[in-house]
Amino acid sequence: MTPGPRAISALLLALALLIPLSACGARGGTIITIRGSDPDEAEALRAYFPRIETAVDEVVAAYGIEHLTVRVIIKPLGGLGETTPEISYTARVFGGSVSLNKRLLLDPPDNLDEVLLGLFAHELAHAMHYDAMNTVDLIIFGQRYLAFYNNPNGANQKWARSYERLTDLTAIAHGFAGPLAAQKQASTHNIEKYRPRKVWDFYLTGDEIALAAMDGSDLTQRIDARLEEVKLPSLTNWAKRRLLPLVEQPETLALSTHD
Ligand SMILES: [Zn+2]
Repeated sequence: MTPGPRAISALLLALALLIPLSACGARGGTIITIRGSDPDEAEALRAYFPRIETAVDEVVAAYGIEHLTVRVIIKPLGGLGETTPEISYTARVFGGSVSLNKRLLLDPPDNLDEVLLGLFAHELAHAMHYDAMNTVDLIIFGQRYLAFYNNPNGANQKWARSYERLTDLTAIAHGFAGPLAAQKQASTHNIEKYRPRKVWDFYLTGDEIALAAMDGSDLTQRIDARLEEVKLPSLTNWAKRRLLPLVEQPETLALSTHD
C-alpha cells in the first residue's frame, strides 16, 4: 500500500512527534550524556562511561554499524532501555539514541558488563533495523509505534510485541544470546523491584533465548514468523540478505560466545 500525500503528512507528523529531528553532523562514534541527576549522582554515573563504551563498541563491531552515531542518554526510565532513530533533515537515519535506565548503574548487578552487552545488543538491533528501513517503512513504523504508545492495549499491541521479539532474535543471530539472557534477568529484577509493568511478555524469555540459540531452524522459523507479522518490506529484504544467512553458521550462535 502506498499512502497518499495527506496520509504521508500525517505519518511524517507522527514520526516527528516520536523522533526528535537531529542536525546533520559527523557520523559514527558514541556520545554519552546524563539527564536528571544532581552533580554527585552524575559523577557516580560518569564512572561507568568506559564500561558502557566497551559494550557499545563490541555490539557495533558485531553488527557492522560503525557508520551510525550511537547516543546514550542515562536517565530515569520505566524499563532498562529504549531506542529511537536519529534522523537527518534529509530523512536519512544516521544513528540511534539509546536511553539507559540510570538505576541499572546506581544499583548494578554483579554481572553488569554482561547485562550492558545484552542491553545494547537489543537496543542497537533497533538502530540497525532503522538504518535498514526505507523512508516509507520508517514512517509506517513510527505511526504504528505512536499508536501503540497512545493505546498500549489497542490494535497495535500484537505488532509491537512481534517487532520487539524480532529485535531479540536479531541479537541472538549475531551471537548475543548469553548477554541477552542476562539482560532479561536484570530487567525482570528491575521491573519486579521497582515498577511492575504489563509489557513483560513482549520479549523473549530465558528459555526461548536458549532454544533459539541452540537450534538454527527454531531461530529461522521464529525470525520468519515475526517478519511476516511486522510487515515492513524493506526490513524483510534486509533480514533475507543480512540476518538469516548468519543463522546458517552455527558457531555464531553458541551461548558461550560472549561468556
Ligand atoms: Zn526494544
